[in-house]
Amino acid sequence: MTDEKETISEEDAELMEFLLTESVDKIPEPGTLAAGDVVNTSSNEDAPFPMVVREVSSAGYVTIYDRVTGDPSIVNRNMLPNVMKKKNVDTGKFVFTLRDPGFRPPMGIYKCDLHREAPLREYFDKLGMPVCRKANLKTEWDKMRHMQRRHPQENSMNKEDEERTKDSKRETERQEDREFQKLLLSKLTEKAA
Ligand SMILES: [Zn+2]
Repeated sequence: MTDEKETISEEDAELMEFLLTESVDKIPEPGTLAAGDVVNTSSNEDAPFPMVVREVSSAGYVTIYDRVTGDPSIVNRNMLPNVMKKKNVDTGKFVFTLRDPGFRPPMGIYKCDLHREAPLREYFDKLGMPVCRKANLKTEWDKMRHMQRRHPQENSMNKEDEERTKDSKRETERQEDREFQKLLLSKLTEKAA
């Protein structure tokens, strides 16, 4: 299982390292990233599209993309280590990427994030969020508006969850984050060697 495609891509690993280190108030080493920064110039085969940091908000929300459909989802940064580890049970491939793959689902088949088949559903299940059947949203923008207008409570629950994790669960999560960071760093070191 050491196939290149089975590991988190270097770009994802670097971005994730930044996103996680930032949460413990450490300045990341090779320069800071801000929204709009171009992280790579799409020159290599592994990253055929330019990767642009879309949003690093103070609330800690990060945009992730479905690798197959390009469908974007916004998640709490503290959910990131678990979410990024998620693999497709059939293909064994990672489901999400932090870099914009440069494509989107065809118009009209965007699923609400609370849809039963939405990739993040299991995480929303943990937060006790209801299931939504909306699966014909036209564009990314429509999806965002749908989330804001139809699920304002769920959106704020998402935020409250972030607050909650700062209490008792926070230390455990930090521990997990640190272990995951170590793993990522060792992978990066491997590649550099
Ligand atoms: Zn919905």
